[in-house]
Order: sequence, then C-alpha cells, then structure tokens
Amino acid sequence: MVESRVVCTKCNSVREHLEILCRKCRSPFVIEVGGSYDDKIRRNFPYVSKFIFEPARYTPISELDKNLLVKEEYLHPTLSYKDRGMNVLFSFLKGKEVISNDIRVSEDSSGNAGASFAFFSNIAGIKSTVYVSSTANRNKLEQIRKYGANITEIAGNRKDVENAAINSGMMYLGHQYWPEFSDGFRSISYEINEQMERIPDSIYIPFSTGTLFTGIYMGFRHLLASGRIEKIPKLIAVLPERAAGMHNFILGKENRPEKSIADALTGMVPIRAEFLKNVIIEYGETLTVTEEEIISARKELLGKGFDVEYSSAVSYAGYKKIHEGRCLLILTGHGIKNTA
Ligand SMILES: [Zn+2]
Repeated sequence: MVESRVVCTKCNSVREHLEILCRKCRSPFVIEVGGSYDDKIRRNFPYVSKFIFEPARYTPISELDKNLLVKEEYLHPTLSYKDRGMNVLFSFLKGKEVISNDIRVSEDSSGNAGASFAFFSNIAGIKSTVYVSSTANRNKLEQIRKYGANITEIAGNRKDVENAAINSGMMYLGHQYWPEFSDGFRSISYEINEQMERIPDSIYIPFSTGTLFTGIYMGFRHLLASGRIEKIPKLIAVLPERAAGMHNFILGKENRPEKSIADALTGMVPIRAEFLKNVIIEYGETLTVTEEEIISARKELLGKGFDVEYSSAVSYAGYKKIHEGRCLLILTGHGIKNTA
C-alpha cells in the first residue's frame, strides 16, 4: 500500500495541519511517498479521497525523430500540464472539506496556472480571483476569464503580485507553495514508465519554479524504490538565458531575470531552490537557451505537427544543444496560448 507524508525540505519536520511553510524554519514542503507503486495510478495519491475530475486518458508520447520522443503534456482541459497539479490540489482540499461553496480562493500566476486554477475552482464550485502582472499575456487572461474567475492586475514584479494574492483576505492557493500541486506531476513519470518499453535516458523539462521538475523526480524516485525501474533518467532543467533563476542559483551567480518570449518561465529563484539544487546536481543538470533558439525550436516543432507555446519549446531548444541516447521532451503548454 502506498503511503505519503508531507515533510519540510529543510529540517524534515512533518506538516502539522495545512500550513504552506514549515512552522519551525519557514521552508516549503514536499510530499514523500512510501510503499510499493500501485499499477492503478490514482492509488499512488493516498491523501486524495476522490478526484473531482477524471481525465479520460493519458497524454500521448509521440516520436519526433529517431531516439527523440515527446510527451504531449499540453493535451489537458486547459491546454497545459498544470491541470495535473491543480486536480490533485483541489481534490485533496475538497476531500478534506477545507474548501466549500462559501469560500473564496486566490492565486498568483503568469497565466497557465491561473487558467487551470480558474477551471478547477469552477468545477469545485467556488469563487476565485487570479492576481496577475499588468504585463501578463492577454490570451492567457482571456482564458482565465472564460472559466469565470476574477482577475486583478498588479503593476509590479512577480513578488508584488504574489504578495497581493497572499494578502487578499481570501484563502491563498499559491501553486508554488502547496506541495500537493507539484506532487500531482508524479503521474507523468508513472505514465512514461507504463507507456514506454524502456524509459528514456534523458528527459528535458522546461523549468520555472521547479514544481514540474520536483513532481517528475519524485515519481521516478518512487518507481526506483519500488523496483520498477533500474535508475532515474537524467533530468535536464531547461531555462531561457534571460530567466534562469535556478541555473544562476546553482552557479552562485547574481540573478536578474528579464522578460523572455517564454512568458510562463519567470526566472525567479524557486522557493525550493536548495532542495532542487541537490536533486539537479545528483540526477541532472541545468541548460540555458537563447531567445533565438527558443523561437526557432518552436517553429520547427510547429512544422512537425506539435503546436506548443514558446515556454514549451525551450525543452526542444535544450535538446538541440546537447543530447545523448534516447531522449524525451516534456511539451508543457499549447501554442494557442501565445499572442505571436
Ligand atoms: Zn522546516
């Protein structure tokens, strides 16, 4: 039977209630799973009593080239992988009866998480407000509105937007903080293991705040501990040169993120930076790509039948720089989300 516990990434303390930062050291949590992997994927999330949304199928893995595969993670209801994390987070909170119809929830997002948050708030039957930067991508704002969420635009940087959402007086469901959100991406690793005869040597993951990276790592770690795989694939975090917070953190360099065409990738140093640094050093590496490389990678993918946003195409841009063996790209968001 699969078991889980929520632990602090720094001092290893167990979460007491539903706090989003450790009460002892103010660090964020991750969810650790133990017990043997269950072939029924949903049973590997024992803290979710009932999923509020049942996806019809797995996202496909398609061949792009010899020894190059892509997992089409943009084929979710809101056209981004974020739905996996939001489904787990909202299902968990609904099961715990933490969220009910009279509660209002807030979130801060550059777009994709906001759309997914709005979609799942709507399914859960609760009123939601998404705090966005005044420079946010208009297509993504339109999508958030479509699901019935309120939008509050904040003039300021990423941190100002986050503070506005935290201090909104509503229940703050910031996706970066809630460990259930990043834990939702464990299922990507389980699917890869089920769908492929042999798991890839390397996986290219677009990297922003590291929630996707954390979930994929935790999934493979669980499969390894359960004897289902022999080793964890090399996990390559790909970032725009202009927005490379994690990369700079590992190198001990000053971080001054600029706006990239890959607008979903913020370039901030993630709140789980120390934890992620250790994982990346042990199991992978960071790789940065230029704006030109991102633009050309997206165009090439489009020509091959994969319509993804710039923030997704960074994984292909990274692959084109360095690759070895059998590789898999995670394609995270649909191309319709970009305005150009
Ligand atoms: Zn702690």
